[in-house]
Amino acid sequence: MTDRPPSQVGELLLSVRDLEVAFDTEAGVVHAVNKVSFDVRRGEVLGVVGESGSGKSVTMMSMLGLIPSPPARIVGGNALWKGRDLLYMSDRDIRRIRGKEIGIIFQDPLSSLNPTHRVGRQVAEGLRLHEGMSARAAGRAAIELLDLVGIPQPERRAHMYPHEFSGGMRQRAMIALAIACKPDLLIADEPTTALDVTVQAQVLEVLINIKNELNSAIVLITHDLGVVAGLADHVLVMYAGRVAEFGTADEVYYRTRHPYTEGLLASLPRVDQSSDAPLTPIAGAPPSLIAMPPGCAFHPRCPYALAPGACDRDVPTLVSAGGDHQAACHFSERVGTRAEVGA
Ligand code: SF4
Repeated sequence: MTDRPPSQVGELLLSVRDLEVAFDTEAGVVHAVNKVSFDVRRGEVLGVVGESGSGKSVTMMSMLGLIPSPPARIVGGNALWKGRDLLYMSDRDIRRIRGKEIGIIFQDPLSSLNPTHRVGRQVAEGLRLHEGMSARAAGRAAIELLDLVGIPQPERRAHMYPHEFSGGMRQRAMIALAIACKPDLLIADEPTTALDVTVQAQVLEVLINIKNELNSAIVLITHDLGVVAGLADHVLVMYAGRVAEFGTADEVYYRTRHPYTEGLLASLPRVDQSSDAPLTPIAGAPPSLIAMPPGCAFHPRCPYALAPGACDRDVPTLVSAGGDHQAACHFSERVGTRAEVGA
């Protein structure tokens, strides 16, 4: 995506180019992230989508120093945050950015929140640390934040412990904690996976409202293309540590150019189907990163694969499919436009 023309959304906040992350394991070196590039601009939502093990979380968390090293190693690339490379920052600087300028919402708030501290105190902590607020002012601000994310009776709930919250309320508390210092970027890693559909929609609405209020940006990491439908401006689809497809949400959903994206879309429940209608999952399973298939990593599962041939011989590179839209497939022009797949 290096040649992509600048988007019109807003100020460039994060610019990642050719990021490569490897893990040293007993079985050998695992290349978890390979030459991944993308931009995040103020005001936009970037959806990062892929199955478990596709490298989507490792991509985001490694550049923020949240993956232990060893075993993880950044092997190459850049990750410029407002022009400064996160990959070459001191731990102290990156911690400061992580707490204040980039907020992170983790998948499992129960294990991310401290079980021994009251929720209000945990939300207030970042304000005291990064904003230099007094304990009293930070406590008041924490209650306002709990209110902002839709926690009823925030004054009472600020004095409760995480285990006394429901799953949806814990996720809201996690959001309050992440937005306390009004970050420019929120990274939400599977923020709604453990929630039922109604609470999921409410939590996503809170996230979008906050993004609009703070004029910030969101990176929404998810295995479910349905979650980012209607929310994301751009979508980055990852498979086996590489970018499979990138484009605006409309391009990725309605002018799909990668068989993997097409498979993900086909596995979504359709709005015009009854709830017990069978879904069409992608055949097979993602490859082991320690024993990657030759050529295109998706070829053992791909209905369009030409093997033996280019698909099991050559790793496809990202090629423009028009404008910002890019796909890494030797035969992307064969992929049917699945405009009928509900988003
Ligand atoms: Fe399928 Fe071949 Fe395209 Fe890979 S390169 S996604 S195997 S058609």
